[in-house]
Amino acid sequence: MSIVVMKFGGTSVGSIERIKNVAEIIAKKKDEGHDVVVTVSAMAGETDRLINLLKSITPKYDLREYDQLVSTGEQASIALVAQTLKTMGYDAISFTGPQIGMITDGAHSAARIVKITAERLKKALAEGKICIVAGFQGIYPATGDITTLGRGGSDTTAVAVAAALDAKVCEIYTDVDGVYTADPRIVKNAKKLDKISYEEMLELASLGAKVLQSRSVEFGMKYNVDIMVLSSLEDKPGTLVTKEDEDMEKVIVSGVTSDKNQAKITIVGVPDRPGIAAEIFGELAKQNINVDMIIQNVGLQDKTDLSFTVQKTDLLRAMDVCNQVCTKIGADRVVSDENIAKVSIVGVGMKSHAGVAAKMFEVLAENNINIQMISTSEIKISCLIDEKFSELAVRVLHDAFVTEGDSVS
Ligand code: ADP
Ligand code: ASP
Ligand code: MG
Repeated sequence: MSIVVMKFGGTSVGSIERIKNVAEIIAKKKDEGHDVVVTVSAMAGETDRLINLLKSITPKYDLREYDQLVSTGEQASIALVAQTLKTMGYDAISFTGPQIGMITDGAHSAARIVKITAERLKKALAEGKICIVAGFQGIYPATGDITTLGRGGSDTTAVAVAAALDAKVCEIYTDVDGVYTADPRIVKNAKKLDKISYEEMLELASLGAKVLQSRSVEFGMKYNVDIMVLSSLEDKPGTLVTKEDEDMEKVIVSGVTSDKNQAKITIVGVPDRPGIAAEIFGELAKQNINVDMIIQNVGLQDKTDLSFTVQKTDLLRAMDVCNQVCTKIGADRVVSDENIAKVSIVGVGMKSHAGVAAKMFEVLAENNINIQMISTSEIKISCLIDEKFSELAVRVLHDAFVTEGDSVS
């Protein structure tokens, strides 16, 4: 019998009605003769609700307490799903992250999975039980504290559990019926992809397409687990995230996305001498703050301005670090801007086509959208722009690169 790992997101378990619908899908899979493990998220809106409660006490909340709090959302869902299945006559059992041995590092709110012991999971499966596992959470053994895997982390729980159990495929059920060429809520004529390579999906996910958490794609790629993205609301074929094949390279741009979760920090008047960048970014790294785009402008009188982006959730902590470093190195001041968005185009075909960046800049210019920063990799180009143009930029880039086809001269 093969093991199937299924994951249901917040909207899919957003009410008792929806949970009954999910339980039907799970029961059908069990009836087909599979060993079934299910990961669920917190009910829709619950994680945000909990975070807002914490923020109402202080914006500078403690990350251990954050994890302690937000992990309760998933704990509620697993019990509700397991009870629904039991009421339907199925033998189901719920587990928290710590109960299945979901071992992580100690980076509260953004922990990484170290290993999954999965002993209780394997035992329960051997007894024929349907296992319902809380997404998004783990345990840091050194302290015994609960950790969480970053927003959208239930996807990663699911794919990591699939890898740990040697399942060949992980089914991610969500509120859209697959991965589209752009967020279908922003671009009405976005197209559903039958399949997409891990590399492209990883870029899209890292660059804002929240349909999958990027770490889940990393796990899939590393452990060779195919990821199938499907709708929990309609019975339709989904999108397969898998190894790259030749067909995929024919398409230059397979997706357009935007990310409004970043903020820009500028350190003004940084002394222009060796070691300063190492000092600034070294301090940020010590605090576990990830830096994304970086730009350094040569200024006047041996001083430069240094701008970079961080996740909005890290902004307050990053500003504290930068203000301290600013005083220490004798920079003039630190400013931040939260009204920015990063818009990106992604495609493996870019590797073998020239002129893609030029066309992207042209399209943005034609629409009077100013570019503040640029970053590129082999298969993506990203531009930082004013947040208010985010949706417009996604639409015009989608029209130019996807709808009109891949015409790059
Ligand atoms: P879940 O709660 O099931 O984890 P999410 O809200 O995290 O669901 O992710 C699904 C959402 O991702 C969709 O509702 C859609 O608006 C958004 N999305 C963004 N980009 C894309 C894309 N390229 N393809 C499909 N969905 C996308
Ligand atoms: N409940 C968590 C979140 O909202 C994890 C997830 O849904 O995947 O981010
Ligand atoms: Mg999600």
